[in-house]
Amino acid sequence: MGREQDHERLVQLREILNRASYRYYVLDDPELPDSVYDQYYRELQALEARYPAWITPDSVTQRVGAEPLQEFQTVRHRIPLYSLDNVFTLEELSQWEKRVNKLVGEVEFVCELKIDGLALALTYEKGLLTRGLTRGDGHLGEDITTNIRTIRSVPLQLQIPEPSELLEVRGEAFIPFQEFDRINSERAEQGEKLFANPRNACAGTLRQLDPRVVSARHLNFFAYSLPNSPALTQDQTLAFLKSCGFRVNPHWALCRNRKEVQDFIEYWLTARHQLPYGTDGVVIKVNDLHLQEELGFNAKAPRWAVAYKYPPEEAVTTVQDITIQVGRTGALTPVAELQPVLLAGTTVARATLHNQDRITELDVRPGDSVIVRKAGEIIPEVVKVLQELRPSISQPYSFPTVCPVCHTPVVREDILVRCPNHRCPQVLKASVAHWCSRAALDIQGIGEKLIAQLVDTGRVHSLADLYTLTLDELSAYERMGTKSAQNVLASLAHSKTKPWPKVLFGLGIRHVGQTMAVLLSKVFPSAQALAQASIQDISAIYGVGAEIAQSIHHWFEDPTHQQLIQALEAHGVQIRGTDGQTLLSESLLGQTFVITGTLPTRSREECTALIERHGGKATSSVSKKTNFVVAGEKAGSKLTRALELGVKVLSEDELLALLQAKLSQGKLPEPE
Ligand code: NAD
Repeated sequence: MGREQDHERLVQLREILNRASYRYYVLDDPELPDSVYDQYYRELQALEARYPAWITPDSVTQRVGAEPLQEFQTVRHRIPLYSLDNVFTLEELSQWEKRVNKLVGEVEFVCELKIDGLALALTYEKGLLTRGLTRGDGHLGEDITTNIRTIRSVPLQLQIPEPSELLEVRGEAFIPFQEFDRINSERAEQGEKLFANPRNACAGTLRQLDPRVVSARHLNFFAYSLPNSPALTQDQTLAFLKSCGFRVNPHWALCRNRKEVQDFIEYWLTARHQLPYGTDGVVIKVNDLHLQEELGFNAKAPRWAVAYKYPPEEAVTTVQDITIQVGRTGALTPVAELQPVLLAGTTVARATLHNQDRITELDVRPGDSVIVRKAGEIIPEVVKVLQELRPSISQPYSFPTVCPVCHTPVVREDILVRCPNHRCPQVLKASVAHWCSRAALDIQGIGEKLIAQLVDTGRVHSLADLYTLTLDELSAYERMGTKSAQNVLASLAHSKTKPWPKVLFGLGIRHVGQTMAVLLSKVFPSAQALAQASIQDISAIYGVGAEIAQSIHHWFEDPTHQQLIQALEAHGVQIRGTDGQTLLSESLLGQTFVITGTLPTRSREECTALIERHGGKATSSVSKKTNFVVAGEKAGSKLTRALELGVKVLSEDELLALLQAKLSQGKLPEPE
């Protein structure tokens, strides 16, 4: 970027951040996710570092928090209340540590959880709480003593025998998740605007003019520092605060080296999700208070502490293009092609836009700056468009009226737009991929590239054509040696032994997922039985709605699909259940078992068959997703793992008892 563009960007960022900061600190009503604010903040910081002459005093990088509200009396802090410098990677953390080492040598650290709340400064005179201030701009805070007095975990009187004349305690006021949900549902009932997150709820509550409202919302407080502490170290300070009657967060650790600091950070990366309150990082503090003093402060933050922020689940990036993905049911799914961005620890370059309505609702356009989110295992999605950053030449996105692959005019059903052409090459490719997937027929060696070649050369027109492929033909395809071709053929042959529920799922009928396929196959033991069933017959099954029944019925009505079933049968694919495969009940549906050791009466295979015939799944390795481990004699590491993970362990008898209890009627089958 040129100098002029840099300047324009800097001014733009300054304005956005100033506005966001006002909304966040003053109105307690943020308009940006914190991670996006942080991202812009760092971009502004980098630009300011390059062009120091452009720094203005009103830039957010020059200020702590915001000016206090007029409603409360403003009071000057005896000791300024600083913010913390942030680091976002272990690399940045180690640079910070090196700076500390350079200034004061090797040191010990105390790692504390960074509680996502509001910093408070409490003054105790002769052991009595006399004043409580917000941080404000770091120098001037708001006097909210009356409100702070309602927080149960803030002692009104210190529990130590001879308290000093004056004691300043700092800590974090916060609202636990459960209380946050309660407050918001109460607000929803009263038609009031909801708080964006517990931190804003906490800030908004503490600035209530009526202390009764504050009292009714159960705020909490963790004390974490004591300027002028009588102790010599931070860990002793925490112990002292506890003895004074404060609540001190128990999850802190004294770390003697970088490795221990990293272990703490890594441990809490996931463990923090189990806590009943929000945390957004770890605060690392030099333990020795004399060294803290020696290190001192920069304009905004101490040099002896730093906040390591956990990877954000939201980030800002630009949409380079909007493309359309055609799925196996013909559904057109819009996808935002993004400028790659780091999100929750992975690089994200595409995000789903779900459907046409979602595009209209977001008004997302190529060139837009957007907020993307990836939480847990969910596919990344675009959650917001930053309209103020929209390029002036931008045009609204128009959803295609024809399939981008086969150009057939699309049809709209409910919120979905689909390509109605069964022969659409993309629909076929996606159907083949689904058929071959692990959860369906589990055919190995047929990946995206080979599927594309098979369909594009016109060799495969339907799933059944897969079973006519020959060794010569297959080995002639790009990147397919004889060995791989043999493997593909072996895997195809093996797929013919896969049971009817897997085949039914593999057909890719809309709304027929794995569980639904198992449920249907129990009542309709063959494709023929299902094809002959009426919508009423199908929807009579408990758990099958009218929409699903209709979708199945229509699928079987289609002559192309009837031909497909005939062809699959001719190739020996299991389109009907055999006795052994027929489901006896779905009592164990959705339950995963691992069998280990020697059971008293059944072989492992027999036990697996028993579980599967009642709808359960038997797998070979124990994970958090395992529901039960069935253990017999000489059970080894799998049992140990189950105990470690807290997975329930059953004996063979207990498994039978469980099954018995779940079966509403009928007898257990005798051991085979
Ligand atoms: P900060 O929240 O990044 O860190 C400093 C604060 O951490 C301290 O003031 C203290 O309150 C808190 N803290 C929690 N546990 C602590 C512990 N154990 N020891 C010491 N301190 C602890 O800094 P900040 O200046 O309060 O706020 C800046 C942050 O606020 C930004 O990084 C951003 O995430 C957020 N923000 C968001 C918006 C928005 O629009 N979403 C706007 C402005 C600021």
